[in-house]
Amino acid sequence: MKNRRNRERIRGYKSGYGRKKEPKGARVPVCPYCGRVSVLRPAEYVYGENTIVVGSLLYVCSGYPACGAYVGVHEGTKKPKGTLADSELRNKRIRAHRAIDRIVTAGCMSRDGVYVWLSGRLNLPYEETHIGYFSDYLCEETIRECEKVMENWNGNRRGRAA
Ligand SMILES: [Zn+2]
Repeated sequence: MKNRRNRERIRGYKSGYGRKKEPKGARVPVCPYCGRVSVLRPAEYVYGENTIVVGSLLYVCSGYPACGAYVGVHEGTKKPKGTLADSELRNKRIRAHRAIDRIVTAGCMSRDGVYVWLSGRLNLPYEETHIGYFSDYLCEETIRECEKVMENWNGNRRGRAA
């Protein structure tokens, strides 16, 4: 095991692992649906008059509106919040975030606790447990797992109250 790790480290070194990282946000995300490059645009480009946060930015697929994929940007940066998503996936990510919010609001787990637990349930490294990077499938799994936890949590509370 140790040898394997060492070998990987050596191979990684040769392929440039550990070299100085590119500045954050330097890479423009590519659309996973159509392969076009995305363009950083003001949120108004997509939301028009319905823009909630004026001045916020989105990476929008350059095929927009034929391809409807986009993703938000972390405030004050050019760093995408995840991968570009179509309307169906955006909706699932919102639902997954809400499912997590419910657990936190109920006082069942802390927000960080939820992500630690979720990474175990989904068999993902903790660092990769970000809804913004989740596929349709991972969002569905997240919602399902969260609902199970809430059922147990509510069931136990009812049990205690009885
Ligand atoms: Zn696209």
